[in-house]
Amino acid sequence: MDYQGCPTCKTTKFSNPSLKLMVNICGHTLCENCVNSNMFEHGTGKCTQCDTPLRKNNFRVQLFEDPAVDKEVDIRKKVIRTYNKADVDFHSLREYNDYLEQVEDIVYNLTNNMDVESTKQAMEQYQRENRTLIQENKAKLTREQEELEKRLLLEQQGQEQRQLEVVQEKRRHLQAKRKSKQALLDDLESSHLPASLLLAQHKDNAAQLDSDM
Ligand SMILES: [Zn+2]
Ligand SMILES: [Zn+2]
Repeated sequence: MDYQGCPTCKTTKFSNPSLKLMVNICGHTLCENCVNSNMFEHGTGKCTQCDTPLRKNNFRVQLFEDPAVDKEVDIRKKVIRTYNKADVDFHSLREYNDYLEQVEDIVYNLTNNMDVESTKQAMEQYQRENRTLIQENKAKLTREQEELEKRLLLEQQGQEQRQLEVVQEKRRHLQAKRKSKQALLDDLESSHLPASLLLAQHKDNAAQLDSDM
């Protein structure tokens, strides 16, 4: 497809810049208006391009220019939820690499509609055989994610605290300056000392305040 548009109603981003393109599990595009038209009024329908049965609520906003990329990203996310082993789960780097290759094959097959049935069967078998490890790794990933989020939050709070301290320091400094100015005005009004001397004193005070900053 050399244009970004809806293949069904032929609306393009050129004719309608606010066109919202959606993509479903088969990786084909449909615009939001068509998704919400009577094509899916009972929640299900068929892809106009490949006849795959689709659920309306499986439509997502298309993120990539090529909707096939959306499809692959989505499939990879699902596959990795099951194939969640890490290098520490293997005895050798070779075994780990073989495993990663296997995962890539699965993603490739599902993305390109190749050997879909046998690939899905292989996935189900893998899931049965590795149930415990998959659960453990899932819990571990969740824990790691939570720790990461906690660390990020603490870092952010620390940063906010430091910013707050800078603001408070500036405010204190401004208040001190204002006070010093007021004191000068009071002195000029009430003191018997010559104004030039008072001004000189004030200048010293102000300089002292600035050097504290
Ligand atoms: Zn459309
Ligand atoms: Zn399709």
